[in-house]
Amino acid sequence: MNFKILKKSKISNARLGFIETSHGVIETPCLVPVATQAVVKTLTSQEVEQTKSQVLIANTFHLHLKPGEKIVEKAGGLHEFMGWKRPLMTDSGGFQVFSLGFGRDFGTGKILKTKNDNEITHENQPKHIKIMQDGVYFKSPVDGAELFIGPKESIKIQEKLGADIIFAFDECTSPVADYEYTKKSLAKTHAWAEVCLKARKSLRPGSGQAHQALYGIVQGGKFKDLRHQSAKFIGSLPFDGFGIGGEFGDDKKEMPKMLGWVIQELPERKPRHLLGIGQLEDMEKIIASGIDTFDCTIPTHYARRGIAFTSEGRLNLQQKKFLKRNEPLDRGCTCNVCLNYKKSYICHLLKAKELTALGLLTFHNLCYFNNVVEEIRGKIKKGEI
Ligand SMILES: [Zn+2]
Repeated sequence: MNFKILKKSKISNARLGFIETSHGVIETPCLVPVATQAVVKTLTSQEVEQTKSQVLIANTFHLHLKPGEKIVEKAGGLHEFMGWKRPLMTDSGGFQVFSLGFGRDFGTGKILKTKNDNEITHENQPKHIKIMQDGVYFKSPVDGAELFIGPKESIKIQEKLGADIIFAFDECTSPVADYEYTKKSLAKTHAWAEVCLKARKSLRPGSGQAHQALYGIVQGGKFKDLRHQSAKFIGSLPFDGFGIGGEFGDDKKEMPKMLGWVIQELPERKPRHLLGIGQLEDMEKIIASGIDTFDCTIPTHYARRGIAFTSEGRLNLQQKKFLKRNEPLDRGCTCNVCLNYKKSYICHLLKAKELTALGLLTFHNLCYFNNVVEEIRGKIKKGEI
């Protein structure tokens, strides 16, 4: 993998560049659509390519459970398996494993939605998983089997899956984790980062294996000193790039400030990926903070709930009023869906529970998001961001 910075903004931390992989070039900044089960739900890989998506991220945890990395390897790796010729990423599986733990106990995701009086302290352990020094024991949500994933296992699985960019195994702490818990967890994440680097070295070029870029992950929760410490430590290791994981405060407005803590400590010349965050209204701020790529389920997830992102805002196509609107989802959009279909038809399909509606909305939303990011790249070029 090769990362080149073409232009650095003079007014923010934004940068314009590209990542070269053996499956093609990714122009950055770039949105990475989520293909959890080796598919962007409702679309074929060829349709996804038509949305100008440049790179996808698949989910190591889910693919390990179903169908298993050996099946994917036998099929020729993820690219062959899913018929996607462009670059691919896989996450480490850490977020999903830990979501089975505290995430389930407390019902929280990455961003705390409501104030929660319960805190995770260093004294309590999650109910559904067992965190050890060398990895995590958990019960398979598929068949209840006792499973174990640690840094070595995660790298081995990701090497079999064969994505261009893979991630180190980390503990993604919950938004309700206290300082002591986060500090201890961070020590584990840092130790695991070194194990991941060693585990992968044996498979470097010369051993006959295709080269995969390995990104280290910065954690540290909402705590400034821990974020600094993590970025400094992970940034000093010989990773090819860096993922920034975990939560970003109780309030999303804090996100650019918290990203700033991390980015100032990371080496300039390596790409930075923000894991699992990217609301449309936050994209410019994320990019201005110095993020090169970010994955996010919003365009695809909302599409499956009947929501279209447009220049008029979010539209809920399930609303009856759209049956009378014989106009495209977005007049300014030149995607295949907007060129060929009207709101009335998509609303009708949703009401008739026709699956094609979800595909049409997913296609448009991905085009819309990719266009917004393309506009942001243009603004960086012109020195406006
Ligand atoms: Zn469109």
